[in-house]
Amino acid sequence: MNSTDLSRLAFAAPEPQPEWSPFFRGCAEGRLLIERCSECGHAQFYPRGRCIRCMGGVAWAETTGRGRIFSFTIVRVTRDPRFKPLLPYTVALIDLPEGVRMTGLVLPDDLSVTIGTEVTAGFVSFIDDAQSAFPIWRVSGFR
Ligand SMILES: [Zn+2]
Repeated sequence: MNSTDLSRLAFAAPEPQPEWSPFFRGCAEGRLLIERCSECGHAQFYPRGRCIRCMGGVAWAETTGRGRIFSFTIVRVTRDPRFKPLLPYTVALIDLPEGVRMTGLVLPDDLSVTIGTEVTAGFVSFIDDAQSAFPIWRVSGFR
């Protein structure tokens, strides 16, 4: 995939799940959201609707949209036809300073990322729902 060609990221929105809807809508607004506990302040991702530490209520909180690669893999083979146009691509575990770890695609896919590389979230709309988007990660400083 050309590092600036986002048209190959043409994914349909996932099956609607109420707990994920605010996350995808936040992405469409350019905001990367996580859940934060209203009782103990614990941050968590993916959304669960309740704090996994104290079972308290949670609210959506905006992150800086920045992170650092904890680990990554380069995907060279896939059976999923949706991902074949992307090959090879980088999938990483990204640690956010807010205290959560997310999984995501990293661009540019020049296979040059390393553990510790700083990345910034970008957002791509689902092809069938302009009100929802998903995050991709770009090496910081790359446009
Ligand atoms: Zn809590």
